[in-house]
Amino acid sequence: MATDVQIVTRKVVSVNPATGEVLREFESASESKVRAAVSRARVAQPQWNELGVKKRIAILREFQTLLHQKKSDVACLITREAGKPRVEALLTEVLVVLDAARFCIENAYGFLREEQVPHRNLVMKAKAGRILREPYGVIGIISPWNYPFSIPAVEALAALITGNAVVVKPSELTSLVALELEALLHVAGVPKDLFQVVVGDSTTGAALISSQIDKLVFTGSVATGKRVAQVAAARLLPVVLELGGKDPMLVLDDADVDVASSAAVWGAFMNAGQACLSVERCYVDRTLYDGFIEACVAKTKRLRLGNGLDPEIDLGPLIHERQVQIVESHVEDARARGARVLTGGSRLPKVGANFYAPTVLAGVTHEMRIMREETFGPVLPVMSFENDEEAIRLANDSEFGLAASVWTRDKARGEALGRRISAGTVMVNDAISCFGISEAPHGGVKSSGIGRTHGRLGLEEMVRIKYLDSDRLPGLKKVWWYRYGELFTRQMEGFLDLMFARGLSGRLRGALRSAGVLRRKGRL
Ligand code: NAD
Repeated sequence: MATDVQIVTRKVVSVNPATGEVLREFESASESKVRAAVSRARVAQPQWNELGVKKRIAILREFQTLLHQKKSDVACLITREAGKPRVEALLTEVLVVLDAARFCIENAYGFLREEQVPHRNLVMKAKAGRILREPYGVIGIISPWNYPFSIPAVEALAALITGNAVVVKPSELTSLVALELEALLHVAGVPKDLFQVVVGDSTTGAALISSQIDKLVFTGSVATGKRVAQVAAARLLPVVLELGGKDPMLVLDDADVDVASSAAVWGAFMNAGQACLSVERCYVDRTLYDGFIEACVAKTKRLRLGNGLDPEIDLGPLIHERQVQIVESHVEDARARGARVLTGGSRLPKVGANFYAPTVLAGVTHEMRIMREETFGPVLPVMSFENDEEAIRLANDSEFGLAASVWTRDKARGEALGRRISAGTVMVNDAISCFGISEAPHGGVKSSGIGRTHGRLGLEEMVRIKYLDSDRLPGLKKVWWYRYGELFTRQMEGFLDLMFARGLSGRLRGALRSAGVLRRKGRL
């Protein structure tokens, strides 16, 4: 008997968050489409690896040139789909990717060169070892919407230059930007099957994780990251998890209030606060608190909101209604528990449905959601502290550990405190900009994630380490092979003394006891 099989196709819609305009609708890639994409990538990968690093560098250089030529178009597309001001799209997305390409071009040779492994264990002296860095095969990348270009691109460039194929599942909110990245890479000469984008929602992401990828680089929320890690653990799929943050900013008693307040305002509101590295909590020494708050409020009131395509605006919209609701609920929770809203604190429907006024909160405590959960919106909650010890305790009182900043005129003091903060990155007298340093590793501790992207450590995540060892005396049986016996045991005790006894006499005795081991008779 024939049964009707209903095939449900899921749609993902790309919308301009500033205007609500539907930019395009897509069908979510089904599980079978994802599997097919990964299979094609697997077939294409060996040839890409065999192409060699020199030719891959040439293709990356071509990509860099193309992206540079199209920088304004790419930035406009990012603004239309993700809402951020165009200048931010240029600086935090296009520039970051151009420089990441530069980093890969300059460092790929040295990184992939075989590494000699000198060793000092006497008994192993006949051996020559090297470390080889080999591509995993197919790297899966699942990425978020807040940096829809730079996040998948930086990860993909590291994967490609080291000889891998890549399949990207971008956020369902920013498919167009991911497809633009794919188009640029293909025009530059990356074979079509070697870099593919599978557009879709969480089901498409889940299909990618359960496909035959060899490693996954996931960027997104802690909640999704934990689900992803569970599925990956079931088949020991290696993962890099770049998750959320609740980054603290510590303003010490010797800080420049004008500079630090400008930094807090930019750090909290850049990309409408939708950055994993945003300043989400601000702690200020009691002696500077009033002046600092006053400066933050005055500067916040001068910010202009609107469509990011208008070069005269500072802040764009939030990505969608759900994000506005999260911000609203955090501010309301803080207000209900006694926080004071010094500016902002409400939606701006006249500007657009997804706009929320940049908000400065005082009188906040760690009992409030605004100080504990990731807000991911334009809110700057400011709290005072009595001394540096308290500042460190407050900074570390969080489940997150992505980044932090310390503001002081005394670099040594700032760095000393920075060493005591639990975070993947600490910046002294700057925030967020570490993301633009291609050499700097990016990643978190605690719930903020596992592993690193960017820089040399980001390249390390894309390769399997192989230790290759060759014996220089292949005709000799090793002294430690069968058969064992009383004499051999004594000789080995002596050998351990020769290597590790404290003092010359102990070592000499060891040398005498172990003498003759190389001529040991009766080896099988
Ligand atoms: P999200 O976790 O909702 O989604 C991230 C990606 O995972 C999307 O592509 C989504 O479709 C996919 N996904 C969702 N459920 C899935 C599942 N069950 N299996 C597989 N894939 C699934 O996050 P978001 O809202 O897109 O992004 C915002 C979050 O990302 C914030 O928490 C932010 O801090 C974090 N983030 C972290 C970094 C970092 O480098 N640490 C950078 C940017 C953003």
